Amino acid sequence: MDDLTGRGFATRCVHGAGPADPVTGAVVPPISVASTFAQDGVGGIRGFEYARSGNPTRAALEAHLAELEGAAHGFAFSSGLAAEDALLRTLAPGDHVLMPSDAYGGTVRLALQVHAPAGTRVDTVDLSDLAAVAAAWRPDTRMVWVETPTNPLLAIVDIAAICELAHRRGAVVVVDNTFATPALQQPLALGADAVVHSTTKYLGGHSDVVGGFVATSHEHLAEQVAFLQNATGAVPGPFDCYLVHRGARTLALRMERHSASAAAVASLLIDHPAVIEVRWPGLPSHPGHEIAARQMSGFGGMVSFRVAGGEQAALDVCSRTQVFTLAESLGAVESLIEHPGRMTHASVAGTTNEVPADLVRLSVGIEDPADLLDDLGQALRA
Ligand code: PLP
Repeated sequence: MDDLTGRGFATRCVHGAGPADPVTGAVVPPISVASTFAQDGVGGIRGFEYARSGNPTRAALEAHLAELEGAAHGFAFSSGLAAEDALLRTLAPGDHVLMPSDAYGGTVRLALQVHAPAGTRVDTVDLSDLAAVAAAWRPDTRMVWVETPTNPLLAIVDIAAICELAHRRGAVVVVDNTFATPALQQPLALGADAVVHSTTKYLGGHSDVVGGFVATSHEHLAEQVAFLQNATGAVPGPFDCYLVHRGARTLALRMERHSASAAAVASLLIDHPAVIEVRWPGLPSHPGHEIAARQMSGFGGMVSFRVAGGEQAALDVCSRTQVFTLAESLGAVESLIEHPGRMTHASVAGTTNEVPADLVRLSVGIEDPADLLDDLGQALRA
């Protein structure tokens, strides 16, 4: 399909890889492994010159994911953190960035332990509290880093309201859209300047690749990120690009199923005597539910809950499931369970960003929902 203008999101996921190859008719872009490209005389570049700067497989992925985010420019990276690193490097020493107090632990570690020692000034704040954001603002605040829903507490931030506040004060807004994906949330349309992803998660969707992505229509940011992508070289290889690209074709379908099964899981948990709190933005009791309903077209596949009985009880639940695999990461076809305090968020233990010890995080996969509910039932009952 040549022109995707006006097509629905699922159609754009499937067909956005571009038209079939005009020579062979191949309906999937080939994996192009060349590290260098012949030139027609010195400087006669046919489109690509050296694969760190760009290659056809990566270019196809970048164009497709940018289109899904409604962005003019897209940049693929070797991991989500490499993509985040590039965005944070756009700040000058002394610039101030505001981050969510419950962002992904690795993001906080990158900001506080890599960028802060190099001169970036970093503060964490509850971004769902606009008065707190205004109070934390400094004359040199240049960037607000949003994650919504957050990992692992699933807090919701009002993207449009934060953008309004930040733009009025001259800062750019970056949204980590890893949990929602462009299938459920379009941050650029809500005013954000850039979107960042760990494509390791839902965009790849099959737990078989690590990758990152930046999408933006902000010309100056795009120039800076393009420069950094090439200058620092944290780029994905062609096979990794192919895997993310293949995952993206089924994104719409998978997100529908993840969201529907997460709804079933959340309603099992909310009534369960062994559970003291459930965090899923689709629940009317979730403090961010109204905002989520406004800015998301579905509530996603991530559910966190606190277990009665404290940390040991939470660890026990994690080790008893059979369909949910005990593992870090999220966003793939198989269901995963983890203990954020001891696993994904161990790097923020002892800080103000520490997560509750009795918290369990689920990445609800696309298995038969009845099997997922049975499995959680037995793990909580035992
Ligand atoms: N952002 C979020 C919300 C994440 O959950 C993660 C990883 O779990 C990252 C960024 C980092 O991505 P990666 O592990 O691909 O570097």
